[in-house]
Amino acid sequence: MMAQYLEIKAQYPDALLFYRMGDFYEMFFDDAVAASEALDIALTKRGKHDGDDIPMCGVPVHAAENYLLTLIRKGFRVAVGEQLESPEEAKKRGSKSVVKRDVVRLVTPGTLTEESLLEARRHNYLAALGRVRDEFALSWADISTGAFHVMPLSRARIGAELARLAPSELLVADKTEEELREVLGDLGIEATVLGAASFDSTAGEGRLCAVFGVQTLAGFGTFARAELSAMGALVDYLEITQKGRLPLLRPPRQEAVSRLMQIDTATRRNLELTHGMNGGRAGSLLAAIDRTVTSGGARLLERRVSSPSRELAVIRERLEAVTWAVDSPLAEPLRESLRGVPDLDRALSRLGLDRGGPRDLAAVRNALQQAETISAQLAGQDLPDLLSRTVQSLTGHESLLELLDAALVAEPPLLARDGGFIAAGYDAALDEARRLRDKGRGVIAGMQADYAERAGVNALKIKHNNVLGYFIETTATHAEKMMSPPLSETFIHRQTTANQVRFTTVELSELETRILNAGNEALEIEKRLYSTLRQAILDLAPALSDLALGLAEFDLSIGLAKLARSRDWCKPTVDDSRAFDIQAGRHPVVEAALTKAGEPFIANDCTLNAEGEAASVTLLTGPNMAGKSTYLRQNALIALLAQMGSYVPASAAHIGLVSQIFSRVGASDDLARGRSTFMVEMVETAAILNQADESALVILDEIGRGTATYDGLSIAWATLEHLHEVNRVRGLFATHYHEMTVLAGKLPGVRNATVAVKEWEGEVIFLHEVREGAADRSYGVQVAQLAGLPKPVITRARAVLEALEKGERDKASPKALIDDLPLFSVAAHAAPQPAANSGPSEIETQLDALLPDEMTPREALQALYELKALR
Ligand code: ADP
Repeated sequence: MMAQYLEIKAQYPDALLFYRMGDFYEMFFDDAVAASEALDIALTKRGKHDGDDIPMCGVPVHAAENYLLTLIRKGFRVAVGEQLESPEEAKKRGSKSVVKRDVVRLVTPGTLTEESLLEARRHNYLAALGRVRDEFALSWADISTGAFHVMPLSRARIGAELARLAPSELLVADKTEEELREVLGDLGIEATVLGAASFDSTAGEGRLCAVFGVQTLAGFGTFARAELSAMGALVDYLEITQKGRLPLLRPPRQEAVSRLMQIDTATRRNLELTHGMNGGRAGSLLAAIDRTVTSGGARLLERRVSSPSRELAVIRERLEAVTWAVDSPLAEPLRESLRGVPDLDRALSRLGLDRGGPRDLAAVRNALQQAETISAQLAGQDLPDLLSRTVQSLTGHESLLELLDAALVAEPPLLARDGGFIAAGYDAALDEARRLRDKGRGVIAGMQADYAERAGVNALKIKHNNVLGYFIETTATHAEKMMSPPLSETFIHRQTTANQVRFTTVELSELETRILNAGNEALEIEKRLYSTLRQAILDLAPALSDLALGLAEFDLSIGLAKLARSRDWCKPTVDDSRAFDIQAGRHPVVEAALTKAGEPFIANDCTLNAEGEAASVTLLTGPNMAGKSTYLRQNALIALLAQMGSYVPASAAHIGLVSQIFSRVGASDDLARGRSTFMVEMVETAAILNQADESALVILDEIGRGTATYDGLSIAWATLEHLHEVNRVRGLFATHYHEMTVLAGKLPGVRNATVAVKEWEGEVIFLHEVREGAADRSYGVQVAQLAGLPKPVITRARAVLEALEKGERDKASPKALIDDLPLFSVAAHAAPQPAANSGPSEIETQLDALLPDEMTPREALQALYELKALR
C-alpha cells in the first residue's frame, strides 16, 4: 500500500494527498505533519518507512468538506485520491492485491464548486494570463457557474484588470510570473505556475475546439494568439485538476477593455467598491447598495460594480430596466417570487462535474417553477428592451419541469447514495421494490410477536445492526431456555454480549435477504433514474444558464429600484457630452452610516464645466474633517453608479460618459508593503498623469502631503497644471495648500471651492457645505483642540500661528519671528505648576527646540505626541 501511496504522491508533489482508506482520507509523511498543524488534528504514526516511523493523520470522509475549506484557505492544494474498486474486487484479482486508487480531483482555490466552500454572493474566478511575445490576454472562468471570458490587454493594464476580477487563482507561465511578481504580490493573488506547453496557442485552440465540440472557433469570435494562449491554459488546467471531467463551460465571451470604465487597483481600493478598508464586504459600496434576494443577483451586482460600462446603449438599457421596476407595482410581488429562486448556476455546475446530488436536481426544478411563476406574473406587461429579452429566457422548459416535478420528492436528501429522493408513483419497478422492502419490515414486526409467544419470552425483540443484520435478542436469563431443545431447533445462537444473547432463524435470514435485495434493487433503480434526470438537465444546460442569468437580471433591476426608492435616488442622464453636473449629491455609504446614527448628511452640488476640449477642475480647500474626502469620493461613486446602470444618490445628475476614474489619496501609511509612502503616492500620481484621457474623471485628495511643505506644494501645483493643460480631465482636487488657490485666476478651467465651517467661541463647527471660493484658513489648531490636545499646547500653538501670520503679512522671515517669540511658559497658560522653579521644564526645553517651519506635518504631529507624553 505504501508503494502505491508513494507512486501517486510523486505525481502531486505540490499538493497534499488525501489517500482514501475506507471511511477516512489519510495523509502521510510531510503531508501529515503540515495538515495536522493546519487543521489542528492529532498526528499519529503508522508502520515504518526506511526504518523510521511514518507520520499519519486523517479526516473522516463525511466531514472532509470542512477540512478541505480550511486547507484551501490556508493556501494548500489538495489531491483527492479515491478507491476505484471495492476490497472484494481487489481480492478477486489476487489475495495480496491492494485496492486500486487514483486521484480523481485536484482541489485548488479557483476550481471549487461545493456550496460549503464558496461564498454564494461572490464570484470565484480562475484566471489565466496568456502571452505571445509582447501581447497579453487574460481569460477567466467561474467553474461554479460556467461563465468563461477572455480579453486582450496591454501589459500596463494587467494589474488593473486583475484587481477588477479579483480571481482566487491565476495561471501564469514561469517567465511571466517572475516579471509580474510584484503586481501579483500587491494584489494578494495566488499564482499557479504552469509549463510553457499549457500556454501554447495552437495547442490551446485545439483544446478549445475539442471542449466545445466544434471544428473552428470562428463561431465564437476572432481570437488573437494571446487570447488562445490564455483560454487554452485555462482549459488545460481544468482538465488536469478535474481529471478529464470538464465543467459546463459556456462558449468564451470576448470582452474589450474599451467597453468598460477603467478603474485601476488603487482607485478600487480607495473608493472601497467591493471591499471595505478592513478587507471584508462591510463598508463597501457593494454592501451598501445590495438589495438582491438571490445569489445569482448578488453576483451580477458584484460584476456590475466592478465593471461599469462605457457604452451608452448598454447603460441606458439597464437604466430603463431599473426605471420600469421603480414604477411598476409588480416589482414587489416579483421580488417575493425571486426569494424562492435557488442557486441554479452552481447546481448546474455540480451536476455537470458529476459532483451533484438530488438537491441539485431539486434546485433546478424549483428554479424552473419560480421562473414560470415570474413569467406568468409578467404576462401582458410592456417591458423595456433588456427585460423583455430577458423574460424570453425564462420560459420554454415545461417538459423538463414536468419531468422533475413528477420524479422528485418535495425535499430530497443531500446524497443520491441512500436513495429516497424519487417520488412514489413515478416508476413502477421502484414502487414494487420499495413495497417488498417495506412489507418485509412489516412482516418482521409480526414475526417478533410470534416468536415471543413461541418461546414464552415477552422481552424478546427483533433488532437490526450493520454487522449482524436482523437478529433476535433476549436477556441472558431467558436465553438458556432458547438454547436447549426443542426451542434450539428454531433459534440459532449467534452472539452473546454482556447482558444479551442474540439468535437468528432460517425464516428470519430468508426474510432478511428478501428485504435486502428489494432495498438494493430500489437503490439501483433510484441511481439509474438520477442519471437520467441529470442527463435531461445537462442536455438543456446552455438554456438553463441563460435562464439563471435572466433571473439574476430581474433580481438586480428590482433590487436597484428598491434601493432608489427607499433612499430617494434619481435617474441620471448619461450621454456622450463632457458634462458633469450633480445636484444635491450624497455619499451612498457615509449617508447610510450617518442616517443609522440619526445624523443628517448634507447634500452638495458638483458642476464641472468641461466644454469642447477644455478641462474643468475644482480645487477644494477646507480644514481637515470638513468633508473634503467624502465629497470627492461621492462624485466618483455617482459617476460609477450611473455607468453601471443604477440610479444615483442625488436630486439630479447629468454625466457625460466617463472613460476612466482615478482616485488617489496622499500618503497614507503603507508600511505593510514596505515602500516609502511618498514613493507610493508619486508612483500612483505618475500613473494618472501618463494615462488619463479627456474623458477621465480624476479625484486627487491631498496629493503631496507625504513630503516637506514646499516640495509637496510644488508637486501638487505642477500636477494640477498638467491635468488641466495636457490630460484635460474633469477633476476634483482637494488640498490644504492654500497657496494653490491662486491657480483659479491663472487657469481657465480651475475653480475654487471650499467646505464651509463656522467658528463659534473659538471652536470650529463643520457645516459640510461645499461653496464657491477658497478657505480663509485651515483651522488646524481648532481641529487639534477637538482632538483633545492639552490646553497649554493649543494656546501656545495659537500664539505661534498668530506670530507667523503677522510675519507673513509683514514679509518677515519665519526664522527671525520664531526667535522673537516669547518662551513657552506652562504657568502662563494656567497649566499645572511644574514641580520646581529651577529653570525651564522639560516640556519647555523640548518646545523651544522645535522649528515648525522645518517640520513635515507628520513630524509636527509626532512632536505633539511627545510633548503630551511629558505632561
Ligand atoms: P476631510 O477629508 O475634509 O478631512 P472627511 O471627508 O473625512 O473630511 O469627513 C470627515 C467626517 O465628516 C466624516 O467622517 C463624516 O462623518 C462627516 N461628513 C463628511 N461629509 C459630510 C456631509 N456632507 N454631511 C454630513 N457629514 C459629513
